[in-house]
Amino acid sequence: MSAAANADNSAPQGGFFGHPKGLSTLFFTEMWERFSFYGLRPLLVLFMAAAVMQGGWGWDRGEASAIVGIYAAFVYLASLPGGWIADKLLGLRKAVLYGGALISLGHLTIGASAFIHSKTPFFLGLVFIVLGTGLLKPNISAMVGDLYPEGGARKDAGFSIFYMGINLGAFIGQLITGFLGERIGWHWGFTAAGLAMILGLIQFWIQSGKTLGDIGSEPTRHPDPAIQAKQESQVKIFTTIGLAILAVVFILVATGIIPFSASVFGTYLAYVLVSIGFIYFAYLFIFGGLNGDEKKRVLVIAVLFVFAAIFWSAFEQTPTALNLFAQDFTERQMGSFLIPATWFQSVNSAWIILLAPVIAAMWTALGSRNINLSSPVKFAVGLGLTTIAFVVMIFASYVVVGDGTSITKVSPLWLVTFYLFLTLGELFVSPVGLSSMTTLSPKRYVGQMMGVWFLASSVGNLIGGLVGGEVDPNNLPAMPRLFTTTTLFLGGSALVLLILSVPIAKMMRARSPEESDAETAVKSEIE
Ligand code: GLU
Ligand code: ASP
Repeated sequence: MSAAANADNSAPQGGFFGHPKGLSTLFFTEMWERFSFYGLRPLLVLFMAAAVMQGGWGWDRGEASAIVGIYAAFVYLASLPGGWIADKLLGLRKAVLYGGALISLGHLTIGASAFIHSKTPFFLGLVFIVLGTGLLKPNISAMVGDLYPEGGARKDAGFSIFYMGINLGAFIGQLITGFLGERIGWHWGFTAAGLAMILGLIQFWIQSGKTLGDIGSEPTRHPDPAIQAKQESQVKIFTTIGLAILAVVFILVATGIIPFSASVFGTYLAYVLVSIGFIYFAYLFIFGGLNGDEKKRVLVIAVLFVFAAIFWSAFEQTPTALNLFAQDFTERQMGSFLIPATWFQSVNSAWIILLAPVIAAMWTALGSRNINLSSPVKFAVGLGLTTIAFVVMIFASYVVVGDGTSITKVSPLWLVTFYLFLTLGELFVSPVGLSSMTTLSPKRYVGQMMGVWFLASSVGNLIGGLVGGEVDPNNLPAMPRLFTTTTLFLGGSALVLLILSVPIAKMMRARSPEESDAETAVKSEIE
């Protein structure tokens, strides 16, 4: 993703809250893209599991939820090839443009499935969204980084503003698509999500030339044109082979030649994703040409990766388990208005918009008193806060289940409180993790480390989806069990990480003199 390679400060400055004008272009493009992504995702499980009478497919919840997990896992996994293709072949800007176009095409295809009365275009649409998001999501973030070749606090502030754009999109998106999808008709919700991406694409198309200067206009070129040409043809060959395999598998599954069970496939996929992570880190350690200091830092990244995957596995139960909890077990009738279940998904984004500036101010205040928590400690606190969120859900689910003879719907305040603690946890993990990847990673591996970061999200989305179907009025005991298991896992992980953070801090302090340069940059990360 070549943040440094494309760095060029020719981009117009001072146009957006004192930040480069290009930030507004990237902010609004990502806002519309997240509107479409988060606008669609929570509708998926509700739609697939809804009875045919209600316009849905009447699918088993476990299968529907596993499909959402697999879909979102591939969305984040696609960042790996997406970043690579942008680096070597397209450049960041074209990658974002093509990505946006593919996402829009995906939504249109899903829209068409309603008229053709076929499930094939629906799933084909999801595949297009996966491919498009792989091209767009990692590369738009890399462009944000490129706006600040000088790095430092201004870059962090830029990323915070960008994260607000993400959540503004998620907030509005889920309100609009949720209302349309649940109350008017599923396909109206899907269409609104698609229109949002088209708006984002048009906005990027018009604004990028004017506001981004040279940023992202070229891939990272090798100085030797022969090697460059060889690299480009390699990317083309691998991409073509990858797409061909995908097409064949899609046709075989769509025609029923290969039987497909989402929960079985999802379980295998979980092993594959975790193995990719381990193999990657082992490879980097053995063949990555890392010096002693770099090895220590990569080890910290590997630890953060494992705990980020655990965090997202709990967090990403929101579009499935918590969404179903909102739908079936939450008192949503307010006078004559029935709150759409999807609106509860927006509560997370609303908390982010309210709390992100508070947490950012807290880091600054602590920093000015010379208290810099290390990223492992911040992660451990984040996991602890997320544990509290799930404890809230254990209580809520016991209120719902009662003595097991009838269901009691609970106040929306349970979910609002759950999302408060979940969001606090997110703010101690997600932005912290993103910036740690760029700070701890050896420069030449920054792009790949961003990919690894999204791999943790991929694992988390998959696991969140695989367990999400356990919130089911026909299987009541499974629900408190799910939230209790999640709580124990989170709490245990928080403790283990807190304990691990002590030897990590010691290890990072023990540096050889020639490593002291890098030390300055990483200091606040690990002490
Ligand atoms: N919710 C944030 C976003 O959409 C973070 C997601 C993640 O890294 O899994 O950008
Ligand atoms: N908080 C998530 C992220 O920052 C958005 C969401 O799950 O709605 O993008």
